[in-house]
Amino acid sequence: MAMKVLADCINCAACEPECPNQAISAADGVYAIDGDRCTECAGAYESPRCVLVCPVDCIVRDPERVESPEVLQARYASLHV
Ligand code: SF4
Ligand code: SF4
Repeated sequence: MAMKVLADCINCAACEPECPNQAISAADGVYAIDGDRCTECAGAYESPRCVLVCPVDCIVRDPERVESPEVLQARYASLHV
């Protein structure tokens, strides 16, 4: 499952530099996560770094993007060749 940013985002930018996959960027009004780059931090950290640093808890798992640990790990590998 990739993560997604909810509308509660306050644009603090704390999450962007924490992502090991450069999946987070400023978007229209709020920050956004590219689901094709997010691995839930699989391959880099024990848990999603963006969630740890977000001051308003507006980053959640995207229920429309359920993916297995194997898929997430493979994505991490493909992003870091
Ligand atoms: Fe980046 Fe990890 Fe957050 Fe996904 S969970 S957006 S890989 S920091
Ligand atoms: Fe938005 Fe949270 Fe990222 Fe700050 S850390 S930019 S509030 S998603």
